[in-house]
Parts: sequence; C-alpha cells; structure tokens
Amino acid sequence: MNIILAKPRGFCAGVTRAIETVEKAIAKFGAPVYVRHEIVHNKFVVESLRKKGAIFVTEVDQIPVGAITIFSAHGVSDRVEEDAAIRGLDVIDATCPLVSKVHREAKKYEDEGYEIILIGHRGHPEVEGTRGRVKKEVILVTNEEDARNVEIKNPEKIAYVTQTTLSVDDTKKIASILEARFPKMQQGLATKDICYATQNRQDAVRSLCSIVDVLLVIGAQNSSNSNRLRDLGEESGLPSYLISGAEDLKDEWFANVENIGLTAGASAPEILVQGVINRIKEISKSDVAVSDMEGITENVFFALPRKVRK
Ligand code: SF4
Repeated sequence: MNIILAKPRGFCAGVTRAIETVEKAIAKFGAPVYVRHEIVHNKFVVESLRKKGAIFVTEVDQIPVGAITIFSAHGVSDRVEEDAAIRGLDVIDATCPLVSKVHREAKKYEDEGYEIILIGHRGHPEVEGTRGRVKKEVILVTNEEDARNVEIKNPEKIAYVTQTTLSVDDTKKIASILEARFPKMQQGLATKDICYATQNRQDAVRSLCSIVDVLLVIGAQNSSNSNRLRDLGEESGLPSYLISGAEDLKDEWFANVENIGLTAGASAPEILVQGVINRIKEISKSDVAVSDMEGITENVFFALPRKVRK
C-alpha cells in the first residue's frame, strides 16, 4: 500500500500568523488572552491554544473590559471593531492580510458608488466580516442558481468580491453567469480574491486524484477550504473523506486500495498528518510506503501584528 502526500498541504501563511499571534500574546501579556471566534477552523489547534491560556468567545461582550483580545484569521465586521473599542478591549488583529485585502476592495467599490456582490458561503465568519465592512447592503451569491436569479438595482454600476477559500472551478462558473447577465460588472479575474493557498492546495489535490484510489482530507467540518478539497476528490469519482484526524479512519475504506491520497486543509497541522499515516500503517496488513507528490514549495510569509512582534 502507498500513501501519497499532496504538496502543498496544511498550514498557510495566514493560519501560521494567526496561531503565532495568540502564542506570542500569551507569552508577552500573560494568560488569559481572549480570542473572538476559533482562531482558525481546527479543534486540535484551538484546544492546544486553550491549554496555553487562550479563552475563545463568540462575541466581544463576553470579554472583560480592557482585556487583550485577538480577532481570528477570518476577519471581523466594522461593528465588532466598534463594540471592542466601546468596551475598551486591547485588540490584536490576526485577520489574514489576504482577507483584509478583500475588505479594502469592497470598501473601495462602496466609496465609488458600486452595488457589491459577494460570492461566498452564507454564515461563514469571513463572509460575515466582509459584509460588515461596507455600510450598504452586500448581495450574497452562494451558487449558480443565485447568480442566475440575483436582482440588481443598477446593472451599470456593480462589482463583485469573493471569499478567499472557495472552489476555484465553482467560482469561475458563478462569475461567468454574473458576467453574462451584467456585462458592465467590475471584475478582475473571476478568482482574483481566492488566495494562493486555496488555489495551490486545490491544484495539488486535482493532480493527486489522478494517481490514487481514495482521497483523505484532514480538516474541520466547518473549514471551507478543507471541504472544497474533499469536493474535488468526489468530482474526480474517488471515495473522498474529510476527517478530523486518525480517530475518524475506518478500516473498510482501505479494502482493495493500493494508493491513498492524503492532504490537509490550510488550518490542519502536520502532526495530524503523521497521526493518520501511523494509523493507516496499523490498519494495513502489508507494508506502507509514504511519499510526497511533486509539487510547488510555498514561500509566503506574513509579518505578525505589531503588538506581538517583540
Ligand atoms: S486560507 Fe488564504 S486567506 Fe485564509 S488564512 Fe490562509 S492564506 Fe489567508
């Protein structure tokens, strides 16, 4: 049996920065520090940080006045920032710089008088944050049907932005429907806001799927980019499983399987990959060879927020 590892996989620069931000804040200011929302969508990461002294909350009114408060990698709305200021919270913003870029883009379109469409998943914290960065209503388009039916007040003055962790292929389809309906729509490339890490992990899985019999994706059920990787496996016709870690593996998935493809979403740590490999070795009745597929090496790095740099 062979395990072939996707390259690249796992942590992106935004997730690394967000986790380091919490760790450095605890080291510098002492525990506890408060984190609004899961810092990244991974229970293993959240539990590890909780043990070190992070307290995770859903809203800023759960945080004691004046406390050190970290905003998650997914970003927040203007209202959350304002509520934190009113409460006198000492905020460290771990929003991924690529999400902040989408916020700035949406604001720019608003300032220029455009009606704004946001392509993304309803209820995802990044989508809520981006919607809450502009004062006007942002029209959410979640799928091709929405794109066919969405009503626009002024088709002459319309622009769109997207969530950073979408399916590249689905987003192109949605955008092309919108572009056909609203030829004057402001756009770059359809997938211009989808981040490098999402794109690279999807490209790697697409290649991986052509040489394996089953695909395993390590990631949280609420992780958008991990779900998209599993979707790619299914679209390739492979049995594809999104797992939290080794504990989710089922022996029957590996009956008559020769080549296992293994990847991890952008918020899943490498230690979980090793755990899955070890568990497959236990399940397998034969030798298991582990190899990395050919793939690109990422060299993206984001500086930490100023307050935790030293
Ligand atoms: S997936 Fe992309 S946008 Fe999200 S945190 Fe990572 S680098 Fe930033």
